[in-house]
Amino acid sequence: MESIKAQRGTQDMLPAVAGQWQAVEGVMRSEAEISGFREIRTPVFEDTRLFQRSVGETTDVVQKEMYTFEDKGGRSVTLKPEGTAGAVRAYLEHGLFNEPMPVKLYYVTPCYRYERAQAGRLREFHQFGVEMFGSSLPVADAGLIAFANGLFDRLCVKNLTLKINSIGCPTCRAEYAKALTAYFTEQKDRLCETCLSRLDRNPMRILDCKSPECAEVAKGAPHILDYLCDDCRKHFEEVKEILDSANIAYEVDPTIVRGLDYYTRTVFEFVSGDLGAQSTVCGGGRYDGLVEEMGGAKTPALGFALGIERLLLVMAAQKVQFPEEDPCELYIASVGEAARKKAFLLVQKLRDCAVEAACDEMDRSLNAQMKYAGKLGAQFTLVLGDDELASGKGIIKNMKTGEKKKIDLDNDFEGQFAGISTEAADGEGLAF
Ligand code: ATP
Ligand code: MG
Repeated sequence: MESIKAQRGTQDMLPAVAGQWQAVEGVMRSEAEISGFREIRTPVFEDTRLFQRSVGETTDVVQKEMYTFEDKGGRSVTLKPEGTAGAVRAYLEHGLFNEPMPVKLYYVTPCYRYERAQAGRLREFHQFGVEMFGSSLPVADAGLIAFANGLFDRLCVKNLTLKINSIGCPTCRAEYAKALTAYFTEQKDRLCETCLSRLDRNPMRILDCKSPECAEVAKGAPHILDYLCDDCRKHFEEVKEILDSANIAYEVDPTIVRGLDYYTRTVFEFVSGDLGAQSTVCGGGRYDGLVEEMGGAKTPALGFALGIERLLLVMAAQKVQFPEEDPCELYIASVGEAARKKAFLLVQKLRDCAVEAACDEMDRSLNAQMKYAGKLGAQFTLVLGDDELASGKGIIKNMKTGEKKKIDLDNDFEGQFAGISTEAADGEGLAF
């Protein structure tokens, strides 16, 4: 029979790699909680219209990349291509706006985009994202950027360039759109078909087109920063001022517009030189119009999303050390059926006290059991046979130092073992 393989653009996370995911997600969660974000989990699939409306009809995501299908009830549903739309929907649906502002949410979620799969570009990928509702102050923009910046520090990721830009509000953007339309109309012959259709509807999208020719044309386009209204200009100046005061280095890059339609004012990206073409690890910005567009009250908001696969690629390229997996603390080898049952019961006692312990589950010879204990990295071993069962005493061996300690099998075994293992760790001067 033909063997079935994982789908193109999807990845299995095998145990060795899953440990890395646990480590980075752990840092993300704790950093988010420290900064006052609380977790939200929204469904993987939503009404297709949610993404059409929020992400925008003329974006690449909606035009080309969505996993959209009809369910058995004839509804059009879409696997979430990003996390903000669902978070905003839930925020409105459950009246989270009644909570004290700002409302700060975070999520870790799989996302789905039908893209040409390559390194750093998958069809199923994962995002860590945060959203913040209610504040229009520049300190919120700078705070969000500082949060992402601090997160990368905690993860020991280096050499990221922070690029920021302001894409203004609908008022200044109307002026800018005119200038863009005029410019691109002159260059019409060089644009791809999708961009031709964007020309009238959403000329700013052309700036984000991945076709090389369109990207070339976009290089000569007018810059939004020259069209900002006074309020937007002041907002952007203040964001930069606060970043300066916090010693957060950035580059102003007027070509950044981001791939989703809902952004306003501040947009930013963290870009890595250690990735190939897919170099953006984290992207975000303000979306002051989205909540209202989705049927809520006018609410300033902002957020960012970080691609976890890309983050792990950068960490691998930079050889960041991940915390080691906890090794087995005690392996209890056994000879004979009765000893195996005793080993099993002792292991249960240890596991009840959160001590990682193991015993024979394969009917291995004593020799093979000891080899296996070595593969588990067992710090201590204990061998049970007829003699140990008869005397009720055994010998715990420290596999690193060879040191041996007597242990009573029938009297507070777990407590005695805790004493032995703590003493050994103290001797090594370890913190734990
Ligand atoms: P790109 O320009 O790389 O296509 P984007 O503008 O589509 O990115 P966003 O929608 O802002 O990206 O998503 C935020 C982050 O999610 C990206 O910076 C990236 O790290 C990650 N990401 C986006 N699409 C993919 C994908 N197909 N595979 C892996 N990670 C992705
Ligand atoms: Mg994209």
